Amino acid sequence: MSVVGIIPAAGAGERLGADVPKAFAVLGGRPMVEWSLDVLREVCDRVVVAVPPDRVEPPDFVAGGATRSESVRNALAAAPEASVVIVHDAARPLVTVELVRRCLEALDGVDGVIAAVPVTDTVKEVDAGQVVSTPDRGRLWAAQTPQVFRADVLRRATGEATDDASLVEAIGGSVRVVEASPENLKITRPLDVRVAEMLLSC
Ligand code: C5P
Repeated sequence: MSVVGIIPAAGAGERLGADVPKAFAVLGGRPMVEWSLDVLREVCDRVVVAVPPDRVEPPDFVAGGATRSESVRNALAAAPEASVVIVHDAARPLVTVELVRRCLEALDGVDGVIAAVPVTDTVKEVDAGQVVSTPDRGRLWAAQTPQVFRADVLRRATGEATDDASLVEAIGGSVRVVEASPENLKITRPLDVRVAEMLLSC
């Protein structure tokens, strides 16, 4: 069994307002992507990183695409030997080896596993400024990465989505949830950088 890690790191990160692509913004003294790379390398046989085309120099750095899904596909195409794939966003630098291992172990008997947390806010579906519906919060979880898949299933799950599990769900794949921590936060806005810096320093 060959476990390959994929890190989508090719986004521009416009909401962050940094002058470099988000994954390369310095966080806790190093480019953000390096935190995830260190963690995945502990668990995977090989890690492929999808980066902006002008940053492909190091081995196993491949050019990402115009969308996150395309970036994941480009990285997957570079890893034909993979039997299991662990996808983890560079934008979640606080991931732990323990969480990645728990997700990998949960793959037994299913097509995919996602790290997720129960939502604490009440979530509204809104259209043109008006509430359309209020889903039952007790059944809602916020999906994170890592997301772990059988490679053959992920290869068949084509299309565009904000995470890979939804593409696997769309082709009828079974996806299990592993409860993660809200500390595995996603860096999107400047506030997230401040929180992450604080967590990385303690
Ligand atoms: O934009 P968002 O924060 O949802 O991106 C999630 C992850 O996907 C980030 O790590 C980002 O670098 C990556 N991404 C990518 N290729 C894109 C867009 C986003 O690899 N075209």
